Amino acid sequence: MNNIIVFCQTNEKGESCQIGLELLTEGRRLAAEAGVKLEAVVIGHGMYQATETIKKYGAQTIYCADEERLKEYETVPYAKILTALFEQEKPSIVLFGATDMGRDLAPRVACALGCGLTADCTSLEIADYTDKNGTRYEKVLHQTRPAFLGNLLTTIVSPSRMPQMATLRGGLFGCQPAEGATDCKLVTLDTSMLNDNDFSTTLHESIILENKAANIATAKVIVAGGYGMGSKENFDQLYKLASQLGGEVGATRAAIDAGYANHDGMIGQTGITVRPKLYFACGISGQVQHTAGMDKSDVIVSINNDPEAPIHKLADYAIVGDVNKTVAKLIEYFSQNK
Ligand SMILES: Cc1cc2nc3c(=O)[nH]c(=O)nc-3n(C[C@H](O)[C@H](O)[C@H](O)COP(=O)(O)OP(=O)(O)OC[C@H]3O[C@@H](n4cnc5c(N)ncnc54)[C@H](O)[C@@H]3O)c2cc1C
Repeated sequence: MNNIIVFCQTNEKGESCQIGLELLTEGRRLAAEAGVKLEAVVIGHGMYQATETIKKYGAQTIYCADEERLKEYETVPYAKILTALFEQEKPSIVLFGATDMGRDLAPRVACALGCGLTADCTSLEIADYTDKNGTRYEKVLHQTRPAFLGNLLTTIVSPSRMPQMATLRGGLFGCQPAEGATDCKLVTLDTSMLNDNDFSTTLHESIILENKAANIATAKVIVAGGYGMGSKENFDQLYKLASQLGGEVGATRAAIDAGYANHDGMIGQTGITVRPKLYFACGISGQVQHTAGMDKSDVIVSINNDPEAPIHKLADYAIVGDVNKTVAKLIEYFSQNK
């Protein structure tokens, strides 16, 4: 088996995005299991900070394409660089974040290389695999993702064409720097194959809006509201509770469809995956499409007036009662007890 390469997305300041660090954390575990090297690739401009951070996460090689024209993400040049790198290095596994960029880039690269791609994975394992013809493959990547509206999990293998490529959802793996120092080699990638036609857009102005989804994804405390909040006015009380706890507010799809909250705060299978230390589920029933995005929270507190609501079974603390009365009491309590 050859090495594992993680595509580490960088931000406009040349820092590594959280998703890249999560993938390195998970990639390090897989590389140790498979007995291969963990490597990273970054593309952009002025990425000293990103490479310094990536070193701490145990990458043994960082492939770096750094030039002014690559400062802003563009599909064609980024895909060309990655395709050339993977053709040369022949990794066995390549991991991307299931971000807007990863979802755009990974299929292009997979198509250029003629290999498979499993999108939106929620867990990965290395194990042997025997196909229906009896052909045995050793140390294959088993890629698990939700299917059929999240009602079942499916495991996909693609051992006959390398690399085995997957995009992974953020918020599932945590970020853990490597213990001890790792020797890390920085390799500058040749970008001379890029020509001006590869850069089809010109950026005139960039406006960075507050990224609510990113704030929720990294919050330590989340107060999430569902359809059971009953109205937008009731839902707005959750912002008060969240601010008392230094947290963020999330929502279910039903609450968003009812107009109580904005779409960028949706938690679940088709929204953000979160893993906070404390998760309040307020007026939420606990349908699998929602819980798929929050069931790894450290402590879950459910507030629902239906004692049979599935969310109570998942919760560490279940409060059976009216959500608005309970939230009001919590706000009163926390205003007196910081
Ligand atoms: C393909 C697909 C993808 C989806 N993706 C997502 C996703 O990513 N995220 C997501 O959230 N959903 C998603 N959904 C929708 C999901 O299936 C559920 O419909 C949704 O999560 C339900 O939201 P809810 O719990 O707020 O509402 P409900 O299921 O209607 O639950 C409301 C709860 O509030 C309780 N309640 C009512 N009044 C009160 C009160 N006064 N006090 C206390 N409790 C009260 C009720 O007992 C009930 O349990 C998806 C659905 C599909 C088909």
